Amino acid sequence: MTAQYDYDLIVIGAGSGGVRAARMAATQGARVAVIESRYLGGTCVNVGCVPKKLFVYASEYPQAFKDAAGFGYTVDEMPAFDWPTLRDNKTAEIERLNGIYDGLLTRAGVEIINGHGRFKDDHTVVVNDERELTGANILVATGSWPAKPDIPGAEHTITSNEVFYLDRFPEDVMVVGGGYIAVEFAGIFNGLGARTHLVYRGEPVLRGFDEEVRQFVSEQIAESGVQLLYNCTIESIEQLENGRYAATFSDGQVRETDLIVCATGRKALVDGLDLDKAGVMLAEEGHVPVNEHYQTNQPHIFALGDVIGRVQLTPVALAEGMYVADYLFSKDKQPKTVDYNTIPTAVFSQPNIGTVGLTEEKAADQFDRVEVYSANFKAMRNTLSGNTERTLMKLLVNADTREVLGIHMAGEDAGEIIQGLAVAMVAGATKDDFDRTIGIHPTAAEEFVTMRTPSRTVGRKVS
Ligand code: FAD
Ligand code: NDP
Repeated sequence: MTAQYDYDLIVIGAGSGGVRAARMAATQGARVAVIESRYLGGTCVNVGCVPKKLFVYASEYPQAFKDAAGFGYTVDEMPAFDWPTLRDNKTAEIERLNGIYDGLLTRAGVEIINGHGRFKDDHTVVVNDERELTGANILVATGSWPAKPDIPGAEHTITSNEVFYLDRFPEDVMVVGGGYIAVEFAGIFNGLGARTHLVYRGEPVLRGFDEEVRQFVSEQIAESGVQLLYNCTIESIEQLENGRYAATFSDGQVRETDLIVCATGRKALVDGLDLDKAGVMLAEEGHVPVNEHYQTNQPHIFALGDVIGRVQLTPVALAEGMYVADYLFSKDKQPKTVDYNTIPTAVFSQPNIGTVGLTEEKAADQFDRVEVYSANFKAMRNTLSGNTERTLMKLLVNADTREVLGIHMAGEDAGEIIQGLAVAMVAGATKDDFDRTIGIHPTAAEEFVTMRTPSRTVGRKVS
């Protein structure tokens, strides 16, 4: 690349997307620096996917202890739970991962620079007002930050960032929101023994997911003990002398609680970046718009991951990072385009949700005749345990071409099961391919290859 710049690529933000792009660029011979102001690995490793999943595992033990009785175990008393042990073991594991990320970057030849990066001009980044770096190309991979509702007393609430480091585990908690984070954290708090309220302005949770899955999961979450307060918002919050909080709801009711967690979405993180000095435009909603090559309106300034306002998921940021590194530096291979239509995703709620492709509603809007295959059953484990949790599986099939358009599951290990089925969908599997696949018995997953009769047909040509 051009010798007039200090680096071929400067990456701002060492999160999921930034680390992947920096490593892949460096392994292809580019001179790369990555600037990170908080923590290597970004949101996912430090205050996102990884610590969240560890907490989800912890939250599932109490139900497992209860279920064990039906299999002959005597669990006289629920084993005691110690929050500091979970919190601190989690933190030690995160620190281990931070070290691994440091090693991955360093071994690839990436220079790690600790500090806050901001643009001085379109080729120059200043770190902590101390050091200036110039780059032929610059990648903005700064992620996103939790957004709180603008209500009096919002300062008394916390977000997912702080949940991972609480001094004390609450006896009573309100989680505000109805998206991924709210649903997952309601499950975590409830599972670990807190009286948990989920306060959502709509009904049911998880707008954008398949309607039947939303309804099913909502019922299962309520069954698990979470109090669902639907069509409801908190209008103001007051701190009481006893250290608790009083939340006033839209219907005038007042409820006291120990902790209020806002899980009300995340905004692109561009604070203090001085994008205007580089001539980079922002969308009205606050994210950095990019074209199909992840270029901003300045062709040598790229952006990816949460900051571009598309899909806020780690594997998506990784794929985008891979694309940018190959687009800029690969001499012999075409960058792989990210297919945003077949992104599988999971919500680690109780029960887990796994999904890929279209929802029933979208499939019905887009295709003439869509066969809906579905199964709603009690998983074998729950026959002896007495656990009331059920499983839902759905397969949406284009009746004219037999192409599988969407696959949805709510039940144990849904995320694990859907990953493999997503490969089939990306490969263009038809319902006939599913039908000629031999099941693995006895599993829940085998239902996906044994559903023979559609429960209904929907679509543009179905009245
Ligand atoms: P990030 O990982 O956020 O990295 C951005 C980095 O940039 C950060 O380290 C930040 O400190 C740094 N930075 C920002 N500004 C500057 C600056 N000016 N100078 C220097 N450094 C800067 N996704 C999943 O796929 N599965 C999950 O289970 C999942 N669970 C989640 C749970 C929670 C609670 C949250 C909050 C998110 C979760 N996500 C999950 C989403 C996932 O974490 C994000 O989509 C992903 O981390 C985005 O990667 P990124 O590279 O865009 O940004
Ligand atoms: P989401 O966008 O998923 O959900 C935000 C929720 O907050 C919605 O239910 C929204 O309601 C509600 N909301 C927004 N503004 C307000 C407000 N002012 N007052 C009351 N409620 C409000 O965001 P999350 O914060 O849950 O998560 C951010 C992203 O992180 C997710 O979209 C996902 O991409 C990623 N993530 C992925 C996970 C995974 O893969 N398992 C886990 C956690 C996060 P409404 O529906 O009405 O808009």
